[in-house]
Amino acid sequence: DESRSLNFIEHIIEDDLSNGMPKDDLRFRFPPEPNGYLHIGHASSICLNFGLGMRYGAPVNLRFDDTNPAKEEQEYVEAIKKDIEWLGYEWDTECYASDYFQQLYDWAVVLIKEGKAYVDSQSSEAMAEQKGTPTTPGTNSPFRDRSVEENLQLFEGMKNGDFDENTHVLRAKIDMASPNMLLRDPIMYRILHRAHHRTNTDWCIYPMYDWTHGESDYIEQITHSLCTLEFLPHRPLYNWFLDQVTESDKIRPKQREFARRNLSHTVVSKRKLLKLVEEGVVSGWDDPRMPTLSGLRRRGYTPESIRSFADTIGIAKRENVVDVSLLEFHAREHLNKIAPRVMGVLNPLKIVITNYPEGEEEWLEAENNPEDPSAGNRQVPFSRELYIEKEDFREEANRKFFRLKLGGEVRLKNAYIIKAESCTKDTDGNIIEVQCTYDPKSKSGSGTEESLRKVKGTLHWVSVKHAIPAEVRLYDRLFTDAVPDGHKEKDFMEFLNPNSLEKVTAYLEPSMKDVNEGDQFQFQRLGYFNVDKDSEPGKLVFNRTVTLRDTWAK
Ligand code: ATP
Ligand code: MG
Ligand code: MG
Repeated sequence: DESRSLNFIEHIIEDDLSNGMPKDDLRFRFPPEPNGYLHIGHASSICLNFGLGMRYGAPVNLRFDDTNPAKEEQEYVEAIKKDIEWLGYEWDTECYASDYFQQLYDWAVVLIKEGKAYVDSQSSEAMAEQKGTPTTPGTNSPFRDRSVEENLQLFEGMKNGDFDENTHVLRAKIDMASPNMLLRDPIMYRILHRAHHRTNTDWCIYPMYDWTHGESDYIEQITHSLCTLEFLPHRPLYNWFLDQVTESDKIRPKQREFARRNLSHTVVSKRKLLKLVEEGVVSGWDDPRMPTLSGLRRRGYTPESIRSFADTIGIAKRENVVDVSLLEFHAREHLNKIAPRVMGVLNPLKIVITNYPEGEEEWLEAENNPEDPSAGNRQVPFSRELYIEKEDFREEANRKFFRLKLGGEVRLKNAYIIKAESCTKDTDGNIIEVQCTYDPKSKSGSGTEESLRKVKGTLHWVSVKHAIPAEVRLYDRLFTDAVPDGHKEKDFMEFLNPNSLEKVTAYLEPSMKDVNEGDQFQFQRLGYFNVDKDSEPGKLVFNRTVTLRDTWAK
């Protein structure tokens, strides 16, 4: 949206441009680690980076930050690509930090030769003890003054697989007294005898995030490397590493930080989401209750709704929690425009139209989408026996109940005005059938005086003999607490909502017979629904994406 005011990142870019940076130099990247599926927080970062690419006509790389073979998998790489494409963005170059392993190694050798890196052979515990505290300086490692020759030899041995894990690391020689703890001789390489999803067993030393990220930005000539706020204290280290390699005629990337986006009633951390998957709390990364892009997609969220949500919340300098109802609002807004209307009953109560001829039926005209005249009409069957929602009938009710009650009238959507005359109960007193009469002259759209008569309520319904049964999955918040991972004393798993999934058998109008996975509908008065991947012809399965109104705002 070109009309909105600039965000603070765009101000930084505008300043750079007015200070002489050629617009053609601009280049951005989105750098996921392939250690899980993308979630709604990542959508903010994707929309930010690709949005900048679109605004400035600049390329945006997709860079896999794949430096930890213990947690990364090809499955995640594929899922990440699919999700970004689904959101509607196109990257310029698909890059992998692992493609730079040789270059990073060569640069590390240069640092060793310049006396700026050394092999430390202590345990990680000993190194941690020497780190000091933010207010007291650290202690130099006894290995800090190893000769260049010895360091070169050991580092090569590390690379060649001569050593076990946890026996040596390569550290940058910066300043053990720096007030910034991250500058106290950070680790650049560790030994990991693990196969990598791309480099297989070519390497058994792996570069750390800080050493890798800025150098990767430099190799790709990224101008603005945008990351979340927790990396703010890393910025001096990012710059220190760049200082070691940057040539004067090349672009020197800039790291700039924005606030992580959190969503209420869920967790947006791959590690925590993985725990939900591994413990079987959800059916997988794409469980429709998950805040992953694949879960949201399966739930029926559209890419448009996620992008408009991300645009609306924008980017911030401080962390906060965005209420999930705002995301739902954006889904409703978009689905209202595109989803065809149909009738389905979730909790059926049979009604019999006693003055409608037995064995007869008629097909009535129904509008597919009042928001979209080009969507056309369809036919829905009407007959003597119908289902309405149980909640839509009461024997007695006060004047505010605009649905069906004994002696009262309602309009059946696209059909007739009916009046409830009597009802039948089972031995427990539950109402199992309502006998009604209809006004044959009141047919919707017939233009008669009776068809124009105003009655207070309009109900959705389906014809019993034409109805298609379907499994409908109704979802609630996955967590009962707004910020489940915001408690010091309690683990986020303690706030799981035991009732986050309810399965019901619904009855749908027969036009729904041939639906396909992903098709979206408004079930009138009930919400937006889509066809789940578990659906099969004759055994339909739907997810409720979102209700029609925000029942949580009340
Ligand atoms: P997680 O904790 O979920 O694993 P991460 O930051 O480690 O998140 P990455 O794969 O490294 O995940 O993220 C890729 C990019 O997306 C990074 O630039 C990161 O800062 C950004 N990002 C991740 N989570 C969020 C969030 N909640 N809000 C905004 N940006 C995010
Ligand atoms: Mg991570
Ligand atoms: Mg990360």
